[in-house]
Amino acid sequence: MNEALQAYDVIVIGGGPAGLTAAIALADAGAKIALLARRAPYADNRTTALLGASIDLLERLDVWRRCADKAAALRVMRLVDDTDRLIRAPEVRFSADEIGLEQFGFNIDNRSLVAALEQRAGEMPTLTRYDDEAISVDPDGSAVAARTGQGQRLSARLVIGADGRNSLAREAAHIEITSRNLRQSALTFNITHARPHKNISTEFHTAHGPCVFVPLSGNRCSVVWVCAPKEAERLMALGDAELSEAAERQSHSILGRVQVEAGRHVFPLAIEWPRQFAKDRVALVGESAHVLPPIGAQGLNMGLRDAADIAEVVGESISRGEDPGATQVLSRYQSARRPDVTSRMWAIDIANRSLLSDFLPMQSLRAAGLHLIGSIGPLRRLAMREGLAPSWRR
Ligand SMILES: Cc1cc2nc3c(=O)[nH]c(=O)nc-3n(C[C@H](O)[C@H](O)[C@H](O)COP(=O)(O)OP(=O)(O)OC[C@H]3O[C@@H](n4cnc5c(N)ncnc54)[C@H](O)[C@@H]3O)c2cc1C
Repeated sequence: MNEALQAYDVIVIGGGPAGLTAAIALADAGAKIALLARRAPYADNRTTALLGASIDLLERLDVWRRCADKAAALRVMRLVDDTDRLIRAPEVRFSADEIGLEQFGFNIDNRSLVAALEQRAGEMPTLTRYDDEAISVDPDGSAVAARTGQGQRLSARLVIGADGRNSLAREAAHIEITSRNLRQSALTFNITHARPHKNISTEFHTAHGPCVFVPLSGNRCSVVWVCAPKEAERLMALGDAELSEAAERQSHSILGRVQVEAGRHVFPLAIEWPRQFAKDRVALVGESAHVLPPIGAQGLNMGLRDAADIAEVVGESISRGEDPGATQVLSRYQSARRPDVTSRMWAIDIANRSLLSDFLPMQSLRAAGLHLIGSIGPLRRLAMREGLAPSWRR
């Protein structure tokens, strides 16, 4: 038990990719940071399609060079209507070179990304790591205290809740969330395949959700297969040979013969957003602030923008001699995050609902929308640019 009180500018709770990035960005912005996060191997085989602005941030924070060799460039994104409905959307092909880019971003396994973030965090002189978990967070008027499982007492002017879906920090600040169970699950696994993917990510839109094949380095892809929870359970229970066959069938053999690699996970899908992004000396980043279905690769990309924004707001407040946990500072963070998160949640929710809908006019509307995007160049380019980052940030 160590009861001595340790004082910081900011305590970051949670060592997932969003929390680590926030801790590094805050330390880089001049704040004295405590990172309260258990050191544990990353638990699943998820990968992240990191879009351009996320790569720029990771480069600026001196993280990207440590994991870039594990990533695959994403140059083309294809959306294929794989429903057997009467009205089907035409295939839409987004190509990075159409908007003057070499690639939209890079797909990387979260394990490699988190390892690179951990390495960078370990080098920062103003960042102290507590290999522990928070068991309580107590904001009061002038400071916020956190207690760790091993009895450490920490104090700061601001806590960053990067502690994921069941955030203790969010609960401590009495921030309510709206949550909707989507009654869909995502099965994730990686494959090796016979034909090259040519850096093309392909989304097959089925009546139960998208099944996406996202390039990894070499002749490998990560698969995110969104389907009804029962179907996800069934696929999860298949032997390797049967799942390889099912994935090859679902990919319409565009990648040739498919072989699944070891490791699969199922994620029940939900959509969640908070009433506030910051309150009572607690600011939320990553999944404590927003949970989305894996459509359009937005979740962690938004989490990294949370990290960049909180670092900017806190860095400015410290350089002006302000209290980084003061209400006016937190409202700057809230104003920066709300439009981005709300607009993306709305767009992804509509995209998901329109795919699942049995309602014929909705299916026609979706097909017409995709037809317009696919055939009108300026509209397609606008969709690509907005998908990469909100226009007001460019
Ligand atoms: C199938 C799937 C595919 C996805 N694909 C993409 C994609 O291509 N692109 C994209 O941008 N996003 C994607 N996402 C979203 C992305 O995976 C998440 O946004 C991201 O992993 C969330 O990171 P996080 O750091 O916010 O949360 P987490 O990774 O959940 O980290 C939270 C951390 O906090 C810790 N913690 C919890 N409580 C405490 C406590 N009391 N004290 C200390 N630590 C605590 C936990 O142990 C954990 O380490 C996908 C999601 C899914 C489900």
